Amino acid sequence: MSRPLLMIPGPIEFTDEVMATMARPTASHVDPDFIAAFGQALKDLRSVFLAGDDFQPFVLAGSGTLAMDSAVANLVEPGDRVLVIDTGYFSLRMADICRRYGAEVDLLGVPPGETVSATEVAAQLQQNAYDLVTITHVDTSTGVLTDVQGITTVAKDAGSLVIVDGVCAAAAEEMRQQAWGVDVYLTASQKAIGVPPGLALLVVSPAGMRKWRGRSAPVGSYYSDWSSWLPIMESYEGLRPSYFATPAVNLVLALSVSLQQILAEGMDAVFARHRLIGDAVKAGVSALGLGQVPTDAAHAAHTLTCPRYPDGVDGSLLGRVRAHGAILAGGLYPAIKTEYFRIGHMGAVSANDILATLGAVETSLRQSGYAAEPGIALAAAQAVLAGGE
Ligand SMILES: *Cc1c(COP(=O)(O)O)cnc(C)c1O
Repeated sequence: MSRPLLMIPGPIEFTDEVMATMARPTASHVDPDFIAAFGQALKDLRSVFLAGDDFQPFVLAGSGTLAMDSAVANLVEPGDRVLVIDTGYFSLRMADICRRYGAEVDLLGVPPGETVSATEVAAQLQQNAYDLVTITHVDTSTGVLTDVQGITTVAKDAGSLVIVDGVCAAAAEEMRQQAWGVDVYLTASQKAIGVPPGLALLVVSPAGMRKWRGRSAPVGSYYSDWSSWLPIMESYEGLRPSYFATPAVNLVLALSVSLQQILAEGMDAVFARHRLIGDAVKAGVSALGLGQVPTDAAHAAHTLTCPRYPDGVDGSLLGRVRAHGAILAGGLYPAIKTEYFRIGHMGAVSANDILATLGAVETSLRQSGYAAEPGIALAAAQAVLAGGE
């Protein structure tokens, strides 16, 4: 029997080419081939985020949390005022990181499954001035997609910088960093970027770099400080060797492969494929009669789906689904953790993967005593997929 599919909101299924690259003999970090691959990956990261040539990419060894830490450590000075758009678990982590670096944080929050509109943010910005606004593009704990473009527009009008946590969204949900004016877009390798865990990725706007250059207080983290990393990124992009701390060589090589695969598909095609796959999973879940955590389909993410357990079914469902070939994730938002589960569908995910997953969910629901008509989720998903052919 083949291994189960990994259908969680990161890590995800990776392509064979990426995994083959991980298995190559590790090169020196100053090997010319490695320098060329790293240099190209930095350029490609800009292209994937649709950022301008004057935006600065950073690739650091660490997880998505390091990307958040790096953005905040460098852009927040003690006493800065930060508005955190709070849509769930990772927004609160962002707020904690901001406080750790001395910011005064206000939260603009909503009940789980809801999102904050640009109008609400504009109203808050009229009452108070903020140095920074942070947004979680897709909240991984609720499956909610937030209007980055709209909120960034009102925040920039009010003179705030904008940091967007795109860890569960980058290279999947539409993001046009330059056109939308996002100052920091950040993610981690193991989500839709499609590389095993271990890289923190950020792209910073010229305005973001200016705020960092104009700091009066030193950056309060040794490892995150862009003073050490900017010369490294500039060197590799200029095809010169450089050293501050050893790069994760195999992961960077795998990143260069994955970014090329993403760009070969094309960003508009990548965004459209995630919309189609996401809509198909949601149609399947609805056909089974299951509710979802997002309160409105208009603000539901396309990278994961958060179905609510039907009456009489609990978390033991996930063990059954695994036995039928798909690994899913439990709930994450503390107040409703036991009421729902999460299906990740981002990156190299295919129509076959989601059909196999929905089939496993259907069968497992029946085994859990829930009346699910055989094939009903698959038919609904296939109807959506057929529309995208
Ligand atoms: C996964 C995730 C993170 C944290 O990333 P790690 O790699 O686990 O540190 C942060 N924000 C969001 C939105 C995520 O989905």
